[in-house]
Amino acid sequence: MSTPRVRFAPSPTGRLHIGNARTALLNALFARRAGGTFILRFDDTDLERSRPEYATAIEEDLAWLGIPPDLVVRQSERFSFYDEAADRLRSVGRLYACYETQEELEFRRRRQLARGLPPIYDRAALSLSDDDRRKLEAEGRRPHWRFKLDHRTIEWQDMVRGAGHVECASLSDPVLVREDGTYLYTLPSVVDDIALAVSHVIRGEDHVTNTAVQIQLFEALGAAPPIFAHHNLLTTASGEGLSKRLGHLSLSSLRESGLEPAAVASLAVLVGSAEAVRAVADLDQLAALVDFAHISRAPARFDEAELDQLNAHL
Ligand code: GLU
Repeated sequence: MSTPRVRFAPSPTGRLHIGNARTALLNALFARRAGGTFILRFDDTDLERSRPEYATAIEEDLAWLGIPPDLVVRQSERFSFYDEAADRLRSVGRLYACYETQEELEFRRRRQLARGLPPIYDRAALSLSDDDRRKLEAEGRRPHWRFKLDHRTIEWQDMVRGAGHVECASLSDPVLVREDGTYLYTLPSVVDDIALAVSHVIRGEDHVTNTAVQIQLFEALGAAPPIFAHHNLLTTASGEGLSKRLGHLSLSSLRESGLEPAAVASLAVLVGSAEAVRAVADLDQLAALVDFAHISRAPARFDEAELDQLNAHL
């Protein structure tokens, strides 16, 4: 196998917390162990919510953890590549213009549910003629653009979760481009994974549902899909998910509270896996303990008090 190229892809819309550190570390340590490349990709296509000061803070947090990236990429500097990919998909009929409003979609959805049908987009826009489209645009409507899925089963081997499959006929064609021309996360992510030759996509299991669509996009853009690993998410002892609002579990707060980075890294990597959670001072040793097949599928619960205990053992 050639050396891995992986990416950690946060949106710079807030501070990183210990759950984000798990994703960053699993990527960085997997690459480190095999002499691969660790890329930090800022998913900052949302120009309103992304802030340069958060991007700076994220780089500082990664440096503090001991995993500075080998390469930094900003999606906000790459719009021309997304435009090119969208045009390519349009030219082969895989990206089509839709004019329905939210209200119209909601109405159809409720009607389908009332009839006991799955609430899947009915592809009505595919049968619009050029004339229909001109009329809609004359009314002042602007199109949003959907990716036309192939109705087949997509299968993949997840390094954490094993064999996965999705029957794509059960999915709505996803919107890739909004009415105002901005991109949702899906297309830029795949375009960049191709451009950066990402070999392994290692991310939280909240993204499992995006995988089948992304595999179809890789293929539609003429690329082989990467290998996927979806890890379980960290939760508090009471089972609560870590949101950016949980400020005291941000990496900057943990650092300010006097914790060693190795205490945070040991917990972030080892909790919710087959390994006992213990203080590992050296990142190469911690990297040797990463085994995707031994990450649990249950949430990775931790108690904040464990951080102080680990710190005391360093
Ligand atoms: N920006 C996405 C996120 O932070 C990246 C997901 C991915 O790794 O594909 O959730």
